[in-house]
Amino acid sequence: KLVFDPADPLSIDALLSTEEIAVRETVRTMLDKRVQPHIAQWFEDGGVEEPRELFKEFGKLGLLGMHLDGYGLPGMSSVEYGLACVELEACDSGIRSMVSVQGSLAMYAIWKFGNEETKQRWLPGMGTGELVGCFGLTEPDHGSDPGSMRTRAKRDGDDWILDGSKMWISNGTFADVAVVWAQTDEGIRGFAVPTDTPGFSAKLIHHKLSLRASATAELVLEGVRLPAEAMFPDVKGLRGPLSCLTEARYGIVWGAMGAARSSFESALEYSKTREQFGRPIGGFQLTQEKLANMCLELHKGLLLALHLGRRKDDVGLTPEQVSFGKLNNVREALDICRNARTILGANGISLEYPVIRHMNNLESVLTYEGTTEMHTLVIGQALTGENAFGGR
Ligand code: FAD
Repeated sequence: KLVFDPADPLSIDALLSTEEIAVRETVRTMLDKRVQPHIAQWFEDGGVEEPRELFKEFGKLGLLGMHLDGYGLPGMSSVEYGLACVELEACDSGIRSMVSVQGSLAMYAIWKFGNEETKQRWLPGMGTGELVGCFGLTEPDHGSDPGSMRTRAKRDGDDWILDGSKMWISNGTFADVAVVWAQTDEGIRGFAVPTDTPGFSAKLIHHKLSLRASATAELVLEGVRLPAEAMFPDVKGLRGPLSCLTEARYGIVWGAMGAARSSFESALEYSKTREQFGRPIGGFQLTQEKLANMCLELHKGLLLALHLGRRKDDVGLTPEQVSFGKLNNVREALDICRNARTILGANGISLEYPVIRHMNNLESVLTYEGTTEMHTLVIGQALTGENAFGGR
């Protein structure tokens, strides 16, 4: 008999294999035990307690570089990786960011573009979580327009010397290796920079009201000398960092729906137990309209993520398709969280409930990995053939 399941109203689970569902359940069980009980406190404290320990536990579960293969890495499918991102971000966007930056940005860059020696040096340890990576593209004066970056790498004999700074770098304060993108005489190049190299330093960015559980840093590079093999030989120009971003954005398409799911569940539960005017607030039409609309966007978003995941596993995705998913799902997830917050009334602004934390976190997710405006322009350009990014 067919029944409507409020937790899975479109029967999306029927589109998943038993292995995929098992991956999701394993990740959820681990996070329920290891992260959920502490996450509100970590958000309030401004960072995960012992993040490197958490990385090792994520490594054991196969969450780091999950969809990459070789070098002892798990080699899971894009859909399995996506399902894990939903669970991670249902805990907290900062936790999903830690995993995304490690796997989809730092490890992916080394895996895709590094020379063999660099891959052997970093990838196995990053997969187990013994080693942590960060990804430095954004600079204080160059965010949406990374092509204008000022960090520079100059040749000195066989060596390279790097000078410059990077801003808003997730995992930056405790990383062992920083993937740094820099201008050279031959265009933008990527480098795997061991963070104990003289001249490299990382400073924690304080006063964030969003993504507080994730450490964000400013990286400073002053005369950082690297051997020739630290440079990624196989890529030149913005194509390098942008292809890494496409990987990480794919995870966000899924992950954002995790934050939305957690907020929706919280609001639905609250609407059944909170009474005003002598009845549960879920009995008011205005509340039901909010819940119904949240439910529509949540499950449409999950369906979109699954569709993109299946395409990625089968034939791959165009960057525009990833922009489509990131733009839609982060925007809708934020809207779901804002509506959930109103249903919780004053409790909606308290860290006793997850909703305000998710809502504030998603403000970062809306901005990083390409702002809403950038993804709108990507789709606009694909539709019209006109480049509206500007540039004088
Ligand atoms: P700007 O580029 O200055 O943009 C400001 C506003 O202007 C935005 O609304 C933008 O959409 C708009 N705008 C800019 N250009 C145009 C245009 N042509 N048309 C219309 N509107 C435009 N970066 C990394 O490299 N590594 C990381 O690990 C990392 N982690 C992050 C973690 C957090 C918590 C945050 C908040 C950011 C992180 N970032 C990271 C940086 C992030 O990618 C940038 O913040 C983002 O690319 C936007 O750059 P910006 O902040 O300089 O904003």
